[in-house]
Amino acid sequence: MSLYDVELSSIKGLGKTRCALFEKLGVHSVGELLRFYPRTYSDWGDATPISEVANGEKCMIKATVSTAVSTARISGGRILSKVQAADDSGVIELVFFNNKYISNMLKFSEEYCFYGKVTRDLYGFSMVAPEFKKSSEVDSITPVYNLTSGLTNRVVINAVKQALQMLPETIVDPLPYEILKKYNLCSLRTALVNIHFPKDADSLRKAKARLVFEEFLVLNLGLRILKKRKLTETSCKMNEDYSQEFIASLPYTLTNAQKTAIVDCVNDMRNKKSPMNRLVQGDVGCGKTVVAAAVCYNCVKNGYQAAFMAPTEILAQQHFNNLSAMFAPFNVRVDLLIGSMTKSQKDKVRERLVNGETDIAIGTHALITESTKFKNLGCAITDEQHRFGVEQRAKLAQKGGHPHILVLSATPIPRTLGLIIYGDLDITCIDELPPGRQPVKTMLIDSKKRDRALSFIRQELDDGKQCYIVCPLVEEGELDLQSAENYAAELMLKDFAHYPIGILHGKMKAKDKEAVMNSFLEGDISVLVSTTVIEVGVDVKNASVIMIENAERFGLSQLHQLRGRVGRGQHKSYCIMVSDNHNEETTQRLSTMCKTNNGFEIADEDLKLRGPGDFFGNRQHGLPQLNIADFSDMESLYKTQEAASYILNISPDLSDNSLKGLKAMVNLLFSFLDSSTMN
Ligand code: ADP
Ligand code: MG
Repeated sequence: MSLYDVELSSIKGLGKTRCALFEKLGVHSVGELLRFYPRTYSDWGDATPISEVANGEKCMIKATVSTAVSTARISGGRILSKVQAADDSGVIELVFFNNKYISNMLKFSEEYCFYGKVTRDLYGFSMVAPEFKKSSEVDSITPVYNLTSGLTNRVVINAVKQALQMLPETIVDPLPYEILKKYNLCSLRTALVNIHFPKDADSLRKAKARLVFEEFLVLNLGLRILKKRKLTETSCKMNEDYSQEFIASLPYTLTNAQKTAIVDCVNDMRNKKSPMNRLVQGDVGCGKTVVAAAVCYNCVKNGYQAAFMAPTEILAQQHFNNLSAMFAPFNVRVDLLIGSMTKSQKDKVRERLVNGETDIAIGTHALITESTKFKNLGCAITDEQHRFGVEQRAKLAQKGGHPHILVLSATPIPRTLGLIIYGDLDITCIDELPPGRQPVKTMLIDSKKRDRALSFIRQELDDGKQCYIVCPLVEEGELDLQSAENYAAELMLKDFAHYPIGILHGKMKAKDKEAVMNSFLEGDISVLVSTTVIEVGVDVKNASVIMIENAERFGLSQLHQLRGRVGRGQHKSYCIMVSDNHNEETTQRLSTMCKTNNGFEIADEDLKLRGPGDFFGNRQHGLPQLNIADFSDMESLYKTQEAASYILNISPDLSDNSLKGLKAMVNLLFSFLDSSTMN
């Protein structure tokens, strides 16, 4: 019997109440308890001499209690206990709240290990509420678990100890022997024992390496099986290719890369039995929108409806304007559906969609929620949407007649990483910009030169061009909002007194944002002061300068996206980054922007300088939740890519008997999918 089928209550000390608390943490069985890895470890290994502890750092000290415990009542009836302890190098004060037993637990002149965060002030060193143990009882590394109110670390430790004892002496390892050997990984049993109660740092490292490998491998296998899966046939069969007439109607010639992208998509929709599942990736400004429009056109002419989704209402509105213009020569009906429309407006659009009176719906992601019904949706396109992950794609693919799916992205993820993250998609890269584009000239200045930059911007404005100024703001928080307005007010009074200024920030109502954006688009506003809400997609050809304040606060990829707001037409364009941070690393990072306009080069540089954590830290990548692995560990990720190929070569659907355990894990990680999908 699998330990996943053994109830938690079979562990001594776990009654109904505690079992419920474990369930809150996602632990329902003994098997899951074994996979409930520690959040971190308190290291009782190396003691730091008191004289060497650093303010604000967590550390362990070994010290002898040198005073009696003093206890006082403080506000709110709380009890405050203080005691001093000393080692050869110094004295530290230990402070505890609401623990009546401290004076029994800490005995004068006995030695203890204390673990906690050190504060250093005028009065010396102190630690508030440290963990402690008698130094004779310390074994080196203690696991620290995620807890929930009512559940202590001690209870979890005891439960895990018992669970480990329930592990049979020989367990079948889900990883094939050859893989264990080739990558020098420890067995599952050893890994489980040592991830919870490591003998030493080395055995912990080995345990972790093995479990990380396993998790990445499962992810890798799952994504690749998903990609190859034989989906139920799509009922959105498209027979004809109508691209030529659409392309001929455009006011410009498509680049070869755009043409190839259209061919790839149309072939997917025409030739294959399974639905298209494609990513079209290309740097900002390469012209992905028209590719999406061509796909919509083909879809409509073949008798189906299309949905085109954007991450913001501003962008949806812009796509609506663009596509409406592109389809004006044809008998194609386009509708906009966004949250800020009135209920009756929305109802009307929904009615047209369900009756088949409209061909293309453009909107935010609300478009594909339950309440919006299509008569015969043939294709769903999402633009610039990182959060539109594996799960959403797979769910959409399972909808109705299994519509075709196209994802557009400008996020310059390093190529190798992209292959993994988008493992379930076919990829087309648009690696060419429309002709005549001049690279955006990029400069890094400090605030002493701001006045000169502003006077340069005024020249551009006098020349009839427009500019963006991006404020040093985080999008949320009242305080920031005020300063956005203050900043704009100052510009209005001083530097741009004679120019129309607009403000755009995240806290504005969608309607107001749209109004501001539209006036900028129409040229009624010359200077748009904004937070990063303009980051994705917005297209105003007449804008020739973007000035970014506190540029050091942005990641390179984000700066590249911001810079992509200019240089979209024929004008020579400029990006001015302002930063007073002269730190060497920052300067090096920002000067990358001045050196290249290529999004992928920038992504690779960002990766080198800061590690991949940043690609994933702030951004949801839409992959299944990982338990122990994290994407900054590229080395393991690549190794498992290789291992996955090896395994799939032997058994493309993991049906081999020796891969049973691995297959079960893949199914578990991808359990959000229909059970049939992974089989
Ligand atoms: P992105 O790939 O960043 O979404 P867009 O689709 O917004 O780029 O296109 C950027 C601009 O380039 C738009 O104004 C669009 O009309 C224009 N454009 C697209 N393709 C071409 C082309 N082949 N020749 C000239 N201009 C083009
Ligand atoms: Mg775009």
